[in-house]
Amino acid sequence: MEDINSRLLKIEERIKVAAKRSGRELSEVKLLPISKYHSLDKMRIVLDKGYLEFGESRVQELMEKNEKFSSEVEWHMIGHLQRNKVKYLARMPRCKLIHSVDSLRLAKEINKRAKQEERIMNILVQVNTAQDDNKFGIYTKEAIEMVKKISGFENVKVKGLMTIAPYSDNPEEVRPYFRKLRELAEKIEAEKIDGVEMKELSMGMSNDLEVAIEEGATILRVGSAIFGEREYN
Ligand SMILES: *Cc1c(COP(=O)(O)O)cnc(C)c1O
Repeated sequence: MEDINSRLLKIEERIKVAAKRSGRELSEVKLLPISKYHSLDKMRIVLDKGYLEFGESRVQELMEKNEKFSSEVEWHMIGHLQRNKVKYLARMPRCKLIHSVDSLRLAKEINKRAKQEERIMNILVQVNTAQDDNKFGIYTKEAIEMVKKISGFENVKVKGLMTIAPYSDNPEEVRPYFRKLRELAEKIEAEKIDGVEMKELSMGMSNDLEVAIEEGATILRVGSAIFGEREYN
């Protein structure tokens, strides 16, 4: 398990260097370990290093792990979310942020379930900045309208935007997608929509985190570069 510690140190160092280079405070950039398909033992190593929030992409796995961890751990849902699973997240007080809200119908369901649980649920709107038909997320040009509509839901709070850039070996190739997300957030901010904050930009993964930081990322989603290969079984 030495591996995880040293990998984590490496990532932390890369974040430090990139934040410094782009004139940003380290505290503005959160490393979110993505623990999907990784064991509880591996997660405990990361937890012991002070990481109290994890990202998961499947509701079932998130719920199972939530049972196993102490009350200090909080969860981020980062994967495509089906409406029939929303109720489980709403019942989970430690579900901190849903990154993957990609339709008004989904936001509406989150609002409904959050209301039943008498809580507010924090969300990010997932934007398909690459306009790739095979990807989830709304198109950039639809985003402002959707955020405006969601702002009418009492039990849902929009905290920012999320994007998944297309994979590329060359991080410079994904810069336009990150930039597009930041510019969109600025545009939405300028609209001053009631109750809407553009505080979080969830973008950047292990191979492009430097570019993401330069473009304003506040949450970096890093999985295998910390935990190693995923264990599918
Ligand atoms: C799995 C996943 C990640 C992390 O991917 P790794 O290859 O494990 O680093 C980041 N974002 C999303 C949306 C994911 O589903």
